[in-house]
Amino acid sequence: MKYLFVTIILVASINFIFGQKNSSEKAKAYNQISTYNDVYFKFNVTSKAELDQLPQYISIDNIVGTTVYAYVHKNHFSELLALNIPFEVVSKTSDSKALTMATTVAQMANWDRYPTYSVYVQMMQNFATNYPTLCKLDTIGTSQNGRLILVLKITDNPNVAENEPRVFFSGTMHGDEVTGGVLLLRLADYLLSNYSTSARVRDIVNNEEVWINPFSNPDGTYAGGDNTVANATRELANGVDPNRNYPNPVQGQHPDGSSWAPETVAMMNFGAAHNFTMSLNTHGGAEVFNFPWDSWTSAQKTHADDSWWQYVGHEYADTVFLYGTSTYFKGVSSNGITEGADWYYAYGSRQDYFTYYLLGREVTVELSNTKLLDAAQLPNHWNYNYRSFLNYLRQAKYGIHGVVTDACSGLPVKAKIFINSHDRDSSHVYSSLPVGDYHRPILAGTYSMTVSAPGYQSQTINNITVANKATVIK
Ligand SMILES: [Zn+2]
Repeated sequence: MKYLFVTIILVASINFIFGQKNSSEKAKAYNQISTYNDVYFKFNVTSKAELDQLPQYISIDNIVGTTVYAYVHKNHFSELLALNIPFEVVSKTSDSKALTMATTVAQMANWDRYPTYSVYVQMMQNFATNYPTLCKLDTIGTSQNGRLILVLKITDNPNVAENEPRVFFSGTMHGDEVTGGVLLLRLADYLLSNYSTSARVRDIVNNEEVWINPFSNPDGTYAGGDNTVANATRELANGVDPNRNYPNPVQGQHPDGSSWAPETVAMMNFGAAHNFTMSLNTHGGAEVFNFPWDSWTSAQKTHADDSWWQYVGHEYADTVFLYGTSTYFKGVSSNGITEGADWYYAYGSRQDYFTYYLLGREVTVELSNTKLLDAAQLPNHWNYNYRSFLNYLRQAKYGIHGVVTDACSGLPVKAKIFINSHDRDSSHVYSSLPVGDYHRPILAGTYSMTVSAPGYQSQTINNITVANKATVIK
């Protein structure tokens, strides 16, 4: 009886302390909600296993030691309070916030401003107008509030389907992680404006299809209106976190309990239509190269091409280390790379969707610890990363490549390309119509490959020897 009494007092007093702390944080949280529609907060756990007990509306963003950084949308804030977890609100901006906007295309000349929505759209249109032989503007879809989700196709002969790997770069799906949007806009400009002078750029543009979608959640980025990114939100207009909204190999079709948002459906259709060999998805709030899987730790299940991922990841990060500051890209892992769930589980992420369901290879690159990065810092972050962007693009051309055709008619065939004793968990690829081309990045080694299609006799090719940074045509 006495023991029970003490216990009750103890629990009550803990609640009291939590309550005190949370009431001051609650005021800050409501303040943040009034600007951003969501709250960015941190709390402590004693072990990562505790994270599995959290409801899905708590969207984890980063973990540093035992401190968890997460978001909750205003629609779920009262539910968070009811959990009685002590938390602290985290500022979304650095102290010297200067989110300078470019209100004309000319003001983007030094890449040290954020474009207004109309400047962004104008720049995308200008690329297509100014480089019609290298570039085509396409639309992935329309956001809930009617903004365009634009994508540039950059390649020689942009109106012709060619035997080339397709690589997709997509930015700022979390609308407030704005660094990537500007860096990808600049990547498009870099590829187009250096095509005539740089052999390295020509090598990429002539031999690959590069698809660039700088701002994939324009409603989130321009939540404060078309002329500012200052009030950008993580979520889509309906409060859904786009990076928890995709079908997931562990948790099924709707891991977040929400139906697919229009932006998610548009991206799923776009991805399915283009059979991307590789893709890269930019984020912010951390600095790291995060490769599949988000749904399994590396102890549970590695990607079949885990050693290739590590090789490509080290190439990315090691190049960043040559040009970044002494601390840049080292906050999550000292070597700059992590397998997704070794950092934290993210069910419903686009990375696992593109990799598992679309048979691609998608990486999540976290570009800046500060989400709403000072605009003056954008050129530095470009300088830290652009060579790594080019390296990543170039990797799509290495490995095993070829064309599958009908032996009699010579017509292209959509066939399954399976690396024997290697492929598992959807790591195989398919050849694409209308050309019949397939592209299979893989680490150096000797492989046996089986090509199969319904109605055809399968063919196995043995002793395919691949070197790193080399292309084998079969
Ligand atoms: Zn993010």
